[in-house]
Amino acid sequence: MKVTIVGGGFGGVKAALELAKNQKNHVTLISDKPDFQYYPALYGTATGRSHLQSWVPLGKIFADRPNVDVIIDAVIKIDPATKTLTASSNRTYKYNLLIMALGTVTTYFGIKGLDTYAYGIKSAEEIRDLKQHLYHAMFEERSMEKQYVIVGAGPTGVELASAMKAYIERLRVDYRLPKKNVRITLIEAAPRVLPRMTEATSRKVERRLNKLGVHVMTNQKVEEQTADTLVVSGKPIKSHTVIWTSGVANSPFYQANAEHFVFAKNGKIVVDEHLRALKDVHVIGDNAFTPYSGLAQTALHDAIFVAHNLERKQVGKKRKLYSAKLPPVVVPVGENWAVFEWHKLRLSGWTAALLRTLADMIGYSDILPLGQALGVWRAQKVKEDDYFPPTVNKIP
Ligand SMILES: Cc1cc2nc3c(=O)[nH]c(=O)nc-3n(C[C@H](O)[C@H](O)[C@H](O)COP(=O)(O)OP(=O)(O)OC[C@H]3O[C@@H](n4cnc5c(N)ncnc54)[C@H](O)[C@@H]3O)c2cc1C
Repeated sequence: MKVTIVGGGFGGVKAALELAKNQKNHVTLISDKPDFQYYPALYGTATGRSHLQSWVPLGKIFADRPNVDVIIDAVIKIDPATKTLTASSNRTYKYNLLIMALGTVTTYFGIKGLDTYAYGIKSAEEIRDLKQHLYHAMFEERSMEKQYVIVGAGPTGVELASAMKAYIERLRVDYRLPKKNVRITLIEAAPRVLPRMTEATSRKVERRLNKLGVHVMTNQKVEEQTADTLVVSGKPIKSHTVIWTSGVANSPFYQANAEHFVFAKNGKIVVDEHLRALKDVHVIGDNAFTPYSGLAQTALHDAIFVAHNLERKQVGKKRKLYSAKLPPVVVPVGENWAVFEWHKLRLSGWTAALLRTLADMIGYSDILPLGQALGVWRAQKVKEDDYFPPTVNKIP
């Protein structure tokens, strides 16, 4: 069976690994970046931990999978009539069976100034820009902000805010700057932090953030950003360092090919009970309109489901129907402390932090052989160059 997969993230890589187990299959994986990006670790890399935990070269993942071809290219067009994909390189790729897992992109909801002045942590480039900015201010201008602002108190914003104070202090000591009363402010439009978790968890997390020195502002809407000010619910906050973690939108690929897809209200793609959007075209992970879309565990679940179903079809077995699975959610809030929720189970403190550590190990071993996964996992504890991770330069 020949399968083409677009997207080298959680969904795409996992689907390729599953299909590659059968030597008779041949997989072509097309991705616009040479690395698999482990998003859950990005906040760690953005706050001075090793870049090795966040990016794993696709070449390394598929090194001993001769039936997987990896192509670095950005797909921009699909023609289902001729079963052809066109990429930004002008190359075309014919597909027989297709799995699409293109992930999401950052959106600023049209708020003025954010696209020019805000920093992000969703990609290597964004993290490099943020680190360069901090380095430039501290090393070259010998100055520090009074206030660092993080917008969005979802898991990424909370993880980042809780690690930021310690990181800024570490940089201050490294660059021998005088002690300063630095404020980390976390802004959320909803009435509470982690609005998708329970109220009790939100309260615990807010208390923990306060303890770590993070100033939390809920029910506050960002309205505009200029070079040195963020306007929040009509009031200006002075800062040159605003990090936006608030919004993501579906991959623009689908809007660019809108005539072929059906969109849900949130911009995700409507799929059938086999996760198909079109004949022979499966859409999985963050792109698909499924109950728990937007989580890595869902992308992995979708990938395994589609890969197994394709195998079943190949051998003439009846295909299974998709059933969504509620993934556990664990959010670290500073060192050795986290919150965990899954169905009715709720944990907080070091036990939840331990679960997160285990979840990361499982996450890495989902895509790498155990020995390599252990190496990457251990890199989470490694502190590195504050400027920007060296390998990131290699990303085109
Ligand atoms: C900062 C951050 C932290 C997160 N933390 C967690 C967490 O702790 N737990 C959790 O469960 N989830 C977390 N998530 C969400 C999780 O990472 C996503 O749900 C998951 O990555 C979705 O997998 P995917 O395969 O659909 O997309 P992705 O993993 O985003 O993969 C998409 C891939 O497609 C490639 N691509 C994009 N466009 C093209 C194109 N046109 N042509 C070719 N290739 C293309 C991209 O480069 C990428 O390789 C986090 C997300 C972010 C942004």
